[in-house]
Amino acid sequence: MPVEKASGKAGSLAEKLARLGLSRREDLLLHFPLRHEDETRITPITQAPQGSAVQVEGEVVECVAHGKPRRQLVAQIRDAGGVLVLRFLHFHKGLENMLQTGTRLRCTGEIREGYFGAEMVHPRLRVVSGETPLPCALTPVYPSTAGLSQAALVRLITQARNGAPLAETLPADFLARLKLPGIWEAIHTLHAPPPGISLEALAARTHPAWRRIKLDELLAQQLSLREAYRARRATGAPVLAGTGELQGRFTAGLPFALTAAQERAAAEIDADLARPHPMQRLLQGDVGAGKTLVAALAACRAIESGWQAAFMAPTEILAEQHFLKLAGWLEPLGVRVAWLSGSMKGKARLTGREAAHTAGLVVGTHALIQEGVDFGRLGLIIIDEQHRFGVAQRLALRQKGQAPHQLMMSATPIPRTLAMSYYADLDVSTLDELPPGRVPVRTRLARNERRPEVVEYVRRRVREGRQAYWVCPLIEESETLQLETALNTHARLAEALPELRLGLLHGRLKSAEKQAVMTDFAQGQIDLLVATTVVEVGVDVPNASLMVIEHAERFGLSQLHQLRGRVGRGTAESSCVLLYAEPLSGTARARLRIIYEHNDGFEIARQDLALRGPGEFIGSRQSGIPLLRYADLERDADLVPLARSLAETLLAHAPEAAKEHRIRWLGKREELLGT
Ligand code: ADP
Ligand code: MG
Repeated sequence: MPVEKASGKAGSLAEKLARLGLSRREDLLLHFPLRHEDETRITPITQAPQGSAVQVEGEVVECVAHGKPRRQLVAQIRDAGGVLVLRFLHFHKGLENMLQTGTRLRCTGEIREGYFGAEMVHPRLRVVSGETPLPCALTPVYPSTAGLSQAALVRLITQARNGAPLAETLPADFLARLKLPGIWEAIHTLHAPPPGISLEALAARTHPAWRRIKLDELLAQQLSLREAYRARRATGAPVLAGTGELQGRFTAGLPFALTAAQERAAAEIDADLARPHPMQRLLQGDVGAGKTLVAALAACRAIESGWQAAFMAPTEILAEQHFLKLAGWLEPLGVRVAWLSGSMKGKARLTGREAAHTAGLVVGTHALIQEGVDFGRLGLIIIDEQHRFGVAQRLALRQKGQAPHQLMMSATPIPRTLAMSYYADLDVSTLDELPPGRVPVRTRLARNERRPEVVEYVRRRVREGRQAYWVCPLIEESETLQLETALNTHARLAEALPELRLGLLHGRLKSAEKQAVMTDFAQGQIDLLVATTVVEVGVDVPNASLMVIEHAERFGLSQLHQLRGRVGRGTAESSCVLLYAEPLSGTARARLRIIYEHNDGFEIARQDLALRGPGEFIGSRQSGIPLLRYADLERDADLVPLARSLAETLLAHAPEAAKEHRIRWLGKREELLGT
């Protein structure tokens, strides 16, 4: 039954509820309190502990509105043993009228020692008479929205709770085994906890009722992802069975053999592409593992099957690099490779768009699909460095076009709990080995004071015929400052190293300028490339074997790992110098230690996750999407595999319950969570 009818109220209430995502009775029932306050007891004022919420009851003995030094309302109440000040920093006339001398009040809040003795600031108030009974349940405090009072929410939710019980969707033996309450009991417990329940367990959300709800939510997510997976299986996609002809010519022309891991991944992808429903596969492999090559093989398969492939990268500079590399590989084989970027204007743009319609392979940034470029026969989308795009974009992309096959690539492996939740509908191939002959990068840490030595070191290495990157300090707050710093760094290094050929690369350069610098560097015309983090992703210049990162303590772990991955791509021994400034924060110190001790991106990602927690890790906090409301993938990690196996059980043995569960929890929200 829609809430509007249930409440009998007109549009505006329904609108406010809609803002909270509450449109059905189930939504209200599953709208749980942020916290609870204990109003079942009254504490004498003199015995009230400071620093935790209590309820006191007393009579107003005085109430004065002050105009100065700051407008505020100050009242005093008295009970049998003591006096308490109530202070309101913003108030309206109604409150002043309510606090008449002699009025009996129950006040809930934290007592603190103020200037005039014990006081409560903005307590919750209730006018009572001598006989007003105490509530027998804890008082819930709900997430709300402007103009919607707690009282109104409580009334609506209580009404919903007075209706027929929700059907149980979980098997009884499962609940018994885990000592979890039934859904109806859990709902009542959280909305109206009985007196005597552990407030700590409620607050920490470790109470069985909370665990039950969080498990329910995770289960709904699993069911939704499986539904998405099933729906994908039911969608048609071009069958890219290929002939192997183009792929064969491509590999035959390579100056090296594929690694076993590349062979394996390519075979998995080929098998998917030959099926009549869209692939959604993630290719993960450490920096330098050779993912681009695997992607090129997939593109060959699409092209030789008579379809087009699109290859997207997160930045223009990376997209252009890929374009050059892929064109270098495929054009000699007779494949037309087109370049299309967001910054192309006028005629170039038209030509690019025209080319996109007919080329075998189209390379560009995300603008490729976002601007609705008209492909003739798009069979495969390849997305490089997909971890840079975050969950929200991934979901957006998935909604976009179901039809073409999708291959996503990432150097940041997905931790287990995330893989089981947000990425549960992806198939995964892993490149677990690097091409042979790679010498691990030597990482050194140096305090900023040793910068002159580092400059000398760069001079020596360049004299030996090497090329180097010098990465400028990251200044997250301001792009202008960042640019200024880059210009300064470049000027200082030019002065210190006059005999070197320096280049400068930063985000404000036009894309043609960036490309010119990169080409010069790749061709050995530049010895030392001073760069901002634009070189972070994917840049590939094998002769560059030294990297200096200034203010390394400001960078994130995966960023450092990606940056360092720009060297060590050839066979020469490479090194990476991390300059840092003291004092170091605890996390900065931890990050530097991790990057110093580890070369393996998978291990670094694991430690990164431990340091930051999954929310930061996947970037869902930034995206602001309420992916999970109650469960926390870190604290409730143990529930994730349970939800997963439960989803399997339900789908196999109780598909109706599974459906009811999913709809109960997700309703309209479903698209955000997974489908
Ligand atoms: P990433 O996985 O980080 O995207 P790239 O695809 O950029 O790595 O590959 C890194 C480098 O290794 C490139 O120069 C690429 O040509 C080279 N490479 C890829 N596969 C092999 C291989 N099997 N043997 C030798 N070199 C390879
Ligand atoms: Mg790459």
